[in-house]
Amino acid sequence: MQELSDKIIDYLLHLIEIPSYTYPDGPNKAIDYINETITKEGISTTMIESGGLKNLVVELGLGTPTIVVNTHLDIVPESEQSKCSGYVKDGKVYGRGAADAKGAAAAMIALIINIAKNESSLTKKAIFEFVSDEEVSGENGTGAIVSKYPADWCIFGEPMDGNRICYGSKAIFSQKLTFHGISGHGSRPWEGKNAVLCAAKFITNLTSHKLFDYELLGKEATTVTPSIIQGGTKINQIPELCELKVDVRRPATVSEEEVLSAIEDAMKDIDCKINREITSRVPPVYTDPDSELVQRLVKETEKVVGEKPTLYIATGSSDAVFYAPTGAQVVEFGPRGKNWHGPEEYVEIQGLLDWYTIIFHLFIGS
Ligand SMILES: [Zn+2]
Repeated sequence: MQELSDKIIDYLLHLIEIPSYTYPDGPNKAIDYINETITKEGISTTMIESGGLKNLVVELGLGTPTIVVNTHLDIVPESEQSKCSGYVKDGKVYGRGAADAKGAAAAMIALIINIAKNESSLTKKAIFEFVSDEEVSGENGTGAIVSKYPADWCIFGEPMDGNRICYGSKAIFSQKLTFHGISGHGSRPWEGKNAVLCAAKFITNLTSHKLFDYELLGKEATTVTPSIIQGGTKINQIPELCELKVDVRRPATVSEEEVLSAIEDAMKDIDCKINREITSRVPPVYTDPDSELVQRLVKETEKVVGEKPTLYIATGSSDAVFYAPTGAQVVEFGPRGKNWHGPEEYVEIQGLLDWYTIIFHLFIGS
């Protein structure tokens, strides 16, 4: 185990050194490093380019089910407290991307090399995917390769904050509303129609609607976050226009129609003409927690970690949105870590080893 652990840490430290937040060179360099490391072992790989970005796929075995293990090599920019230079401290590997999601990539390199050595005992088909643009859109990464590599089960190596498995994520259904008022002199508010006040009333109506009451319904409820607002041009003029953007997330159990009707409720009795448009629409991901993939992972995790993992629905989305519509069972499940996208990002070394062992057992039955 020590040798395996040293190898995974070595791959990870190499990957962290590559500032893969500048596209396309950053992620491409990380993909090249992985490709060299794997092909040196005599294992064949497939490189797929899309929009100038490289993605790497390694296929092993021929059985069923077909299982995709996917991770991304692009990262969010480094900061003073999470740099593109890694170090090991107190059983953790620190650095930008250590958890999200180069930890999974490092463990996947070791998995590929060791599964290839045991390919004769492999009863399933394994597809390992290393992609380049999860942090931006995924279109030139998982989005560009999904149709070439259909799967029954998919595991996305996103970091886990503890012993957890994510079986779904909320849909994005974000909106832009433009409020049209009537301008006039700021000293005589009764003469015009204030678009900023119309937006304010709408925000109050919307955020107090019962469908969005996450305090009552829990974190898995639909959420609305008014996030960008712009209105007016002069301090002494009644604003004629106000533009509002709202981040909207719904779980698979709440339909778009339900969300729309709540938004329309909030638009009622507002004394401005309102134009509404959808600015972002990403489908939800949902895999039955009783599905074979989730149950298999729960069992393996319990064996390796010593306790049952918590199952949950993520508030943000990942590349899983590309595989979910194909009918595959999909989960986000990566090594344990913390603080991704923030200061002092790290992945637990034991988390890397546990994840490695769970995935290895999934392919080479324990
Ligand atoms: Zn990620």
